[in-house]
Amino acid sequence: MTHPLLDLTPLTPAHFAAVERRVAALLDTEQDVVIMQGEALLPLEGCVRGGARPGSTALNVVTGPYGRTFGNWLRECGATVVDLQVPFHGAATAEQVERALAEHPEIDFVSLVHAEAATGNTNPVAEIGEVVRAHGALFMLDAVASVAAEPLLPDAWGVDLCVIGAQKAMGGPAGVSAVSVSARAWERLAANPGAPRRSYLSLLDWKERWIDTGRAALPHAPAQLEMLALDACLERIEEEGLATRMAAHASAASATRSGALALGGGIEPYVYSARDAAPVATTLRTPTGIDAAALVADALAADPSVPLIAGGGALAKEMIRVNHYGSDATQRAVRSSLAALGAALRAAGADIDPAAAEKAVSDSWPAIAS
Ligand SMILES: *Cc1c(COP(=O)(O)O)cnc(C)c1O
Repeated sequence: MTHPLLDLTPLTPAHFAAVERRVAALLDTEQDVVIMQGEALLPLEGCVRGGARPGSTALNVVTGPYGRTFGNWLRECGATVVDLQVPFHGAATAEQVERALAEHPEIDFVSLVHAEAATGNTNPVAEIGEVVRAHGALFMLDAVASVAAEPLLPDAWGVDLCVIGAQKAMGGPAGVSAVSVSARAWERLAANPGAPRRSYLSLLDWKERWIDTGRAALPHAPAQLEMLALDACLERIEEEGLATRMAAHASAASATRSGALALGGGIEPYVYSARDAAPVATTLRTPTGIDAAALVADALAADPSVPLIAGGGALAKEMIRVNHYGSDATQRAVRSSLAALGAALRAAGADIDPAAAEKAVSDSWPAIAS
């Protein structure tokens, strides 16, 4: 008896290349797209270790936990790191980046996270890209949490290395990821003696052994199931329409934000301004005296299907994340999340208004979406 997950015909190089072209179309990019055979931290680390070297100076914009990770990798590579730390309740601005670049003209690498699922903010990449391009530094963007949730245009924005993963708004697998690589980035990596080579982290290996040889033979056995899932998820987005997918995330974010405010009980959007709030996930701040991790545990005990999680690390005390992405970018997921949170808040003694929250969700959802 054949098994649908096990007895597969091998994934051909032509099929692999076709998935790359689908990713390129999703990103509206003319650059090379490399699909990496692991979760998105793989290309992110590959990009940092390929782009940074002793003697280089990197501007690392920190708007959440991933920025901190990039800073640590950059330092390990011997780069001097200028950290631009922005409060998690806001976003970085192009002016801040411009000022940092003016203060440190030697900066030759900029790392930025587009949207942060972990803190719920999103950064104005188009404007930041403009000042980075004017300065001439290599620009790396972590777009794992923004792709398919909000506009992402690496070529138009001057992004040299744009990393995506499929596991958030794309509603796809976590075990493969992709990066678009500009000609400038390839030159920079090739000129870096410390850039990973003959390594799982190496983008240059993929260039030499796959792209430059006409994509005729795969260098390793591909992660076949994950590649098939990525292909299926790209096909589904094409059928649904990327704009529709993004609109669902935008609606989920604004409905969660206004629904939480209407719910009351002292719960507030964690990100102060709606403009800085990421469409992929909404973070909420618990009222003083109510522990977010305990509140989320109560809500999940009542309804295990809701996409709620407490913030990571120290944020677990005060931050709730509503992960309304992928298959949860729906009115139903937002409603049930707010209902479960409301019940947990009431049990904790808070005065809440579930009907007002319901109404706020309906009012902020365009009639066409479900
Ligand atoms: C989710 C996410 C990733 C991927 O990391 P995981 O910890 O595997 O989920 C990378 N960058 C950002 C900004 C993300 O939100």
